[in-house]
Amino acid sequence: MRVAIVGAGPTGLYAATALARHGHEVTVVDRDPGPAPGGDWERKGVMQFHHPHGLRRQILTALEAELPEVRDALLAAGAELCILPAEGSRPETVVGMACRREVFELVLRRTAAAESGVTLRCGHVEDVLRSRGRAAGLRVDGAEVAADLVLNASGRAGRIGDDLRAPGTGRDCGLSYVSRQYELLPGAEPGPVNAPVGLISRMPGYFFAVFLQDNRTLSTTFCRLSTDRELAGLRVTEAFEAAAGAVPGFAEWTDPARTRPITAVLPGGHLHNAYRGQLDEEGRVALPGLIHLGDAVCTTNPTAGRGITTSVLQAQHLVSLIGGPGSRDLETVTLEFDRWCAEQIKPWFDDHMIWDAEQLRQWAGADIDLSRPLASGYIVEAAQADPSLMRYVGPYLSMQALPATLAAAEPRAREIYAGGWRAPLPTGPSRDDLVSLISRVGV
Ligand SMILES: Cc1cc2nc3c(=O)[nH]c(=O)nc-3n(C[C@H](O)[C@H](O)[C@H](O)COP(=O)(O)OP(=O)(O)OC[C@H]3O[C@@H](n4cnc5c(N)ncnc54)[C@H](O)[C@@H]3O)c2cc1C
Repeated sequence: MRVAIVGAGPTGLYAATALARHGHEVTVVDRDPGPAPGGDWERKGVMQFHHPHGLRRQILTALEAELPEVRDALLAAGAELCILPAEGSRPETVVGMACRREVFELVLRRTAAAESGVTLRCGHVEDVLRSRGRAAGLRVDGAEVAADLVLNASGRAGRIGDDLRAPGTGRDCGLSYVSRQYELLPGAEPGPVNAPVGLISRMPGYFFAVFLQDNRTLSTTFCRLSTDRELAGLRVTEAFEAAAGAVPGFAEWTDPARTRPITAVLPGGHLHNAYRGQLDEEGRVALPGLIHLGDAVCTTNPTAGRGITTSVLQAQHLVSLIGGPGSRDLETVTLEFDRWCAEQIKPWFDDHMIWDAEQLRQWAGADIDLSRPLASGYIVEAAQADPSLMRYVGPYLSMQALPATLAAAEPRAREIYAGGWRAPLPTGPSRDDLVSLISRVGV
């Protein structure tokens, strides 16, 4: 089958290479030209490209299933496995991979480019071609690319086929990023960590993270309320450095004796939760042969680091539904894929819609409301008071079990909060302290 894919992000590249290996002839179109000859890769259309990305275990498993050499290629490119040490009866566990998004995507892109059944094409996709009520390919910069199947992997801002499915649901998650990448100096030891991915700490009103990445690089992030105009000053280099130097843990990592910055301070906003299925408002497949996937179906608050996982899992599942050449009716595939996404992917979106709203309330100073079902974040925090809850919380956090698994822990978590327990605050400057620091450096 001839397959045309809009978007050479993680979803489009994974799907393209896997489908080619199942015997299809695939063209991937992206307006991004790929890395410049000198290696720089600006990637204007993907705002998050240089922001931190945590790559979860599920991505490695999906790669092992369809593109098994990519894991070793990533390790050879300098990525490292994130390992949760053995504890009690639990053996040492690989929970993900430490790797910059640009390195991850470069390796995927090289793999796709080397695949004989894949053609990578640079261009702007204007529309989906339609013929006799079916998708017939793409119009790319005025030229036609004929195909039997069109995949829309155009990401969270993509507009392809917008008129062919019912509007999505969702809203802005209310948070904004400011991040910067650093590199460990020769001979310097890594700084403090409290999680396999690095260091994460949540204060009321902001949180920060240090993500370990490939080749002794790290990505540091402050996340704030989008409405907090004063903390928006963190995007100015002097303010970012002053704040980083004041936060325990962050300060050790960004100490000039240990690391040097390798990027500018990068802002990132308009972070939203969004879900949009395949069907039109009447619940039909509006254009058989057009299937949407990746962030074009589900986008979640990036602070939980679930986006590439939910995207690649979709691509893997869709490839398994399509199978080899000529084997499946595409309308049936679309309906099955839509059902699977509603069961396996949408629960993560629903979970974010509830917890993100609750987190905004919490940051605004509100206490937990025990008259309502407990949002997932509260159940996760309650495991600090009663570690036996980790048997539910652990699989949820690692995405091995859907959010519904937390229902079994809810009564015990509720009891903990009703008894007056609240999660202890980590040490570090308050949100107001950060604002004073920012104003002291003249921002
Ligand atoms: C700030 C931030 C941090 C994140 N952190 C994490 C994280 O830690 N872990 C994680 O797993 N996920 C994270 N995510 C989510 C992750 O980045 C996305 O889930 C991922 O990019 C989705 O991949 P995709 O291939 O579906 O879409 P994209 O990566 O957006 O790729 C879409 C591609 O389509 C192309 N395109 C769109 N329209 C057209 C057109 N008309 N013509 C030609 N080309 C077109 C674009 O150029 C782009 O290359 C983060 C997201 C954000 C915003």
